[in-house]
Amino acid sequence: MIAITGGARGLGLAMAQAVAARGARVAIGDLESELAAAEAAKLPAGSVGLALDVTDPDSFKRFLDETVERLGPLDVLVNNAGIMVVSPFLDEEESLTRRQIDINLHGVITGMRLALPGMQERRTGHVVNIASVAGKVGVAGEAVYVATKHAVVGLSEAVRLELRGTGVELSVMMPGLANTELASGMSAGRGVEIVEPAEVGTALVDALERPRFEIYVPPKLSGLLRFNALLPQGARDAMARFFETDQVATKVDKTARAAYAARASSGMPPAEPPAPPSAEPAAGVTEVEIQPR
Ligand code: NAD
Repeated sequence: MIAITGGARGLGLAMAQAVAARGARVAIGDLESELAAAEAAKLPAGSVGLALDVTDPDSFKRFLDETVERLGPLDVLVNNAGIMVVSPFLDEEESLTRRQIDINLHGVITGMRLALPGMQERRTGHVVNIASVAGKVGVAGEAVYVATKHAVVGLSEAVRLELRGTGVELSVMMPGLANTELASGMSAGRGVEIVEPAEVGTALVDALERPRFEIYVPPKLSGLLRFNALLPQGARDAMARFFETDQVATKVDKTARAAYAARASSGMPPAEPPAPPSAEPAAGVTEVEIQPR
């Protein structure tokens, strides 16, 4: 059985659909429990959608306990729930800073603390933490989000070392900018291609079938980010200017992003469906493989 946090929409839902199509039973946990239940009812293989707030360890435990009771042992936990605030660092509301850290980082820590003991006992299992390209590079205009995703990458690297020899797998996934509500109002940087949620679903299926630590979506991001990491700072700054990862906050369409921003800050559903991100590459620019988050 595969449990996916924040799976009522976006990348989590796409991953649920992908693994359910391969015959897995899926438990979708989400703040929006009605949406989670409705989406789970559409999945093929006896899946469930349940209430979950990853910032509340009791809620997370209840979700996993009920999931195990109804669907059997936890084979895979996907720590996917996350929010993103786009704002210059000094303008970000303190409450939203804490909320991002609570959901994006603390939620992942709680999920691993709850899932790993049972997996270690059974000497089998796989935890997949959804980080981001923003876990590997700095992106101006989303500094705290970047910090949470770097933290998830570091946390995953460290826990992976502790899991050696236990039979339990740990992976961390770095999707690029993806076509979900979280990215509403954001435009792709120069030469950036937007990831479709189904690609992330396919990447999860592949990672579960052939376990490995780092998963990039699309896979070609891996080479570019490794290359970037080897560059001296001046050259990395030039890369940021070229790929426009230094301009995210100034280029965001706040009106198109308003509904998502309201949902992310309150946990409530948006009033209206937000617009998807624009994928227009700059005129005359060749497509190259980098996503800014
Ligand atoms: P989304 O907003 O479409 O979906 C996120 C889901 O998480 C929502 O259904 C929401 O209700 C749920 N959620 C939020 N807070 C929660 C909480 N406290 N407890 C339980 N559920 C909660 O976002 P998405 O784009 O699908 O993002 C999913 C993950 O992928 C996030 O961790 C995000 O940081 C990461 N990611 C997204 C992108 C992108 O461009 N969309 C790129 C890289 C990584």
